[in-house]
Amino acid sequence: MNSVFQLAETLKKLCPQLELRENEPLSHHTSFRIGGPVTLMALPKSKEEAALALRTAANLGIDPILLGRGSNLLVADEGIEGFALKYVSTLDSLQQEGPCELVAGAGLALAQVAVYAMEHALSGLEFAHGIPGSLGGAVFMNAGAYDGEMAQVVSEVCCLTKQGEEELLSAEQMGFSYRHSVFSDGSRLIVSVRLTLREGKREDIQAKMAELMERRRSKQPLEYPSAGSTFKRPTGYFAGTLIEQAGLKGASIGGAQVSEKHAGFVINTGSATCEDVLRLMRSVRQIVQMDTGVILEPEVQMIGCSL
Ligand SMILES: Cc1cc2nc3c(=O)[nH]c(=O)nc-3n(C[C@H](O)[C@H](O)[C@H](O)COP(=O)(O)OP(=O)(O)OC[C@H]3O[C@@H](n4cnc5c(N)ncnc54)[C@H](O)[C@@H]3O)c2cc1C
Repeated sequence: MNSVFQLAETLKKLCPQLELRENEPLSHHTSFRIGGPVTLMALPKSKEEAALALRTAANLGIDPILLGRGSNLLVADEGIEGFALKYVSTLDSLQQEGPCELVAGAGLALAQVAVYAMEHALSGLEFAHGIPGSLGGAVFMNAGAYDGEMAQVVSEVCCLTKQGEEELLSAEQMGFSYRHSVFSDGSRLIVSVRLTLREGKREDIQAKMAELMERRRSKQPLEYPSAGSTFKRPTGYFAGTLIEQAGLKGASIGGAQVSEKHAGFVINTGSATCEDVLRLMRSVRQIVQMDTGVILEPEVQMIGCSL
């Protein structure tokens, strides 16, 4: 019997309440609106459900793909023959502990956590309010903007290994650097995160969040599907500036286009395929390298495809 089919059957028996979807289009789970179906997707709503799904998959020799809210993902048009796990959290998982700490489920939207912090007069997450995606994805990526990054506020992470064993990692163990963390090897599922913030004034926090959101709206092509910055910031440069200087603003292949508003973003103008995005990324990279000698590295995480 096909092992993913066997996994689905076993999970249905062991945990009937676990949400499973077969042949689930991954375009429904990515902000790029791109990606073919995955054979099986589990959407665990608790640590226990997630641990069971991971353990059962490991026993069958299946390595799951971990998904957050898909805002930094490019997925192959033909989809994935395999198993994807998307951890789901509700607002009940978000609590204040002590005067300045929040503990939150990793599946929550980062924006929900930032708004909660603001409502509780806790400062430190203003930078994160406009970053799409989940709290778990933000920790994985060490997401950042406007001089802030997750490394400044994450103090502890509860995660599960791919064998379903629980681990508690302290800030020092998280190996944060630019868009990188100890989780970047994909070997652990982040299930909850402790954030250490500082006391602030609600009105000031709210005003800062509104100001940063306005800056984002005025500069970024938020009206189109994308996965944010396509390439990482090369040391000493800005990817968007290099791409603009190479005359590539507005360049397009199929439905994929280098945004006219911000050259650092590849957007989906409506019908982009993964192949369109990859071909555009390859030519952008080649032209920028020829012009400047700088090699752009993708920031977007690729699933089932590569540059
Ligand atoms: C319009 C737009 C603006 C953006 N602006 C910014 C910005 O200012 N700064 C910035 O840093 N990023 C930005 N991004 C990129 C993206 O929002 C961030 O990288 C975000 O943190 C990804 O979170 P996610 O939940 O969507 O993760 P996904 O895209 O789903 O996944 C990204 C990676 O994280 C892993 N992952 C996700 N959740 C978990 C988990 N619970 N446990 C283990 N691994 C996990 C996945 O396996 C994958 O490798 C932007 C994106 C868009 C579309």
